[in-house]
Amino acid sequence: MALGRGVAGLEAASPVNGDLGRLAELFLGAARPVAFTGAGVSTESGIPDFRSPGGLWDRFDPSEFTYRNFIGSVGGRRKYWDLGRVTYPVIRAARPSAAHVALAELHRLGRLDCCITQNIDDLHQRAGLPADKVIELHGNATRTRCLECGAAYTRDEVHAWLEASDEVPACPRCGGIVKPTTVLFGEAMPAAELREAERRARAADLCVVLGSSLVVYPAAYMPVHAKHAGATLAIVNLEPTPLDAQADLVIRDKAGAVMAAVVEEIRTGTARREPSERPEALERQPAP
Ligand code: NAD
Repeated sequence: MALGRGVAGLEAASPVNGDLGRLAELFLGAARPVAFTGAGVSTESGIPDFRSPGGLWDRFDPSEFTYRNFIGSVGGRRKYWDLGRVTYPVIRAARPSAAHVALAELHRLGRLDCCITQNIDDLHQRAGLPADKVIELHGNATRTRCLECGAAYTRDEVHAWLEASDEVPACPRCGGIVKPTTVLFGEAMPAAELREAERRARAADLCVVLGSSLVVYPAAYMPVHAKHAGATLAIVNLEPTPLDAQADLVIRDKAGAVMAAVVEEIRTGTARREPSERPEALERQPAP
């Protein structure tokens, strides 16, 4: 497999090994490929993940950022917004990584049904993946809402309030609690997104996990649902995950380089092949 530069602006992985070619074949052969992404697709955009060394949980105590603390007291909200003062500008300044760009390109090539993401950074959409193809299980940090009257404010607006004063943000219309539309620890997942993600995972014939430790539930059930329903499961992650043993393909490498190479191979491979020569999806593994 000869790979040069990737899709505009993408660096293809080098050297290319057999696993990348196999992942490209899986995308080529699948009728309903679904991507499941985690914080690892955004580390290459400069947004730290939670669990890698030097990640956010090395610097902040996760037990302080619960839904109960946020709702329960001004002090709890102040802690949250103090963290947001530091983290939001990083999200705002980040540019989509090669992995985000590759997934948007896969969709344009008709090779991606949807992307189920745990990420809250809006980078899949900013890379060009249509919003209705991104199922956000943990919400989106770029939007906020008043819990009393439902008024919506962009995070940019709320960030400007934070920069202008030390006050904990409150709704200018009714004084209610303004909360980012992200899911905090201990908060219920958005029901519609969860349902849709489960449906798409179960209907998938290929599920490709990119940059997730697969330890956060119920999100991590999505690849499990896909696998149990008969999909081929591929995992691209820098570190081992609890689902590696169930996966048909594990690539321990950077998501951006891998996906750039895969997209390039799909573009050149599709051009090379007659439709009748296209690989069939891999034989399904029986559900464990
Ligand atoms: P995680 O931090 O638990 O795991 C990230 C995984 O990605 C790690 O196993 C790491 O080895 C791997 N990784 C890091 N860089 C990589 C790269 N370049 N290529 C491939 N793999 C790479 O993240 P998670 O599984 O998404 O779960 C944590 C929770 O954190 C989620 O609920 C998510 O909402 C939230 N989160 C989101 C963001 C974001 O939106 N960018 C950032 C931090 C945390």
